[in-house]
Amino acid sequence: MSLQVPLMIVHGGAWSIPNEMEQDHIRGTYKAIAQVYPELLSGEIDAEEAVVRAISILENDETFDAGKGSFLNLKGQVEMDASIMNGTTMKCGAVCAIQNVRNPIRIAQRVMNQTEHVLLVGENALEFAKSTCKSEEEHKELFVESVEQLLTTRELEFLESIRNNEEFTSRTVFESKIDSHPPPSKKGTVGCVALDLNGNICAGTSTGGTPKKCKFSRNSIKKFNKLKVPGRSGDTGIVGSGTYADSSVGGASSTGWGESIMKIQMTGTVVKWLEFHNTPTLPKTASIYSHLNFESSSNIQHDAAQKTNMNKEQVAIETIIEYLDQKVNGLGGLIFLSKEGKYAVSHNTDKMSFAFVPHDTINKETGHFEVVSIVSRKKGC
Ligand code: ASP
Repeated sequence: MSLQVPLMIVHGGAWSIPNEMEQDHIRGTYKAIAQVYPELLSGEIDAEEAVVRAISILENDETFDAGKGSFLNLKGQVEMDASIMNGTTMKCGAVCAIQNVRNPIRIAQRVMNQTEHVLLVGENALEFAKSTCKSEEEHKELFVESVEQLLTTRELEFLESIRNNEEFTSRTVFESKIDSHPPPSKKGTVGCVALDLNGNICAGTSTGGTPKKCKFSRNSIKKFNKLKVPGRSGDTGIVGSGTYADSSVGGASSTGWGESIMKIQMTGTVVKWLEFHNTPTLPKTASIYSHLNFESSSNIQHDAAQKTNMNKEQVAIETIIEYLDQKVNGLGGLIFLSKEGKYAVSHNTDKMSFAFVPHDTINKETGHFEVVSIVSRKKGC
């Protein structure tokens, strides 16, 4: 396929999204693409800017576990992680456990473009971010004045509901049967991969983490009682786990139980696998978790029978999710966009929220395009 148009895909997390929360996820991911894609299509912005703008919109939407609306740690603080990678320059930037910023993805972009480093953490990342501000206005745009501005009542109530629940671990939020746990709070890490008119691919991911960031043994550091331990960061801020891009292959953004995703370095592994093994084959034993056909906007379907028709990108994404499941008992999902403009998505959580612009709906001359925004279900869910 010759690439004549830019493309983009976003996700709003992979977990057991309750039916009544699906519409908010569909609306939120739709909006992020609908607002950003026209400028990507016209060439006004490149892939990197599209990723930063789309993720900022998702961070500002309380539906998602990123920016405002993030899960809280045991101290009731919002600590966020984000990463971005430009697949052309291979530059990347990330922040972990950062507080008091509206859009962590914008700080990750500054780490990428204004330092020689890849990852800045905690208070010093915040200090760096402040030092990059050139005006009072920019400062106001980037930072909140008080912690309360990122807190939601919903998350405070949720924290109290799980505070003393011994059974609740960081994996719990991604498991099925969410009804049997404390009332779910809306959440879902966000991510984006974009391909611009010049063939540049950029990927980014942003999160407020999980509500229980670490499971301590009973005898250790009792005061934290297994809840989200302040200072915990997952895969999202780690380049190669949460985010990876290489314009000669494709870009990927992951979501799910970070402790498992980090162990298999999910996004980096899948992109490198496609680079080194150009024609991957699905292991015979593999399950098909959520096969989606992206060839046509009117033909999005889950169909394990189409196994043999899967494009190589979908095979790679299915295989890495299988690996996540088998190797580390992991839970999560992944979006991918190749340099040829092929989308691929898979997840082994019950559901995953994502949106994309189907190739066959785009008319560069008229500026027309459509957005497909869905909550995908794992087979049998
Ligand atoms: N991966 C994120 C983390 O573990 C959470 C998520 O994707 O929902 O911090």
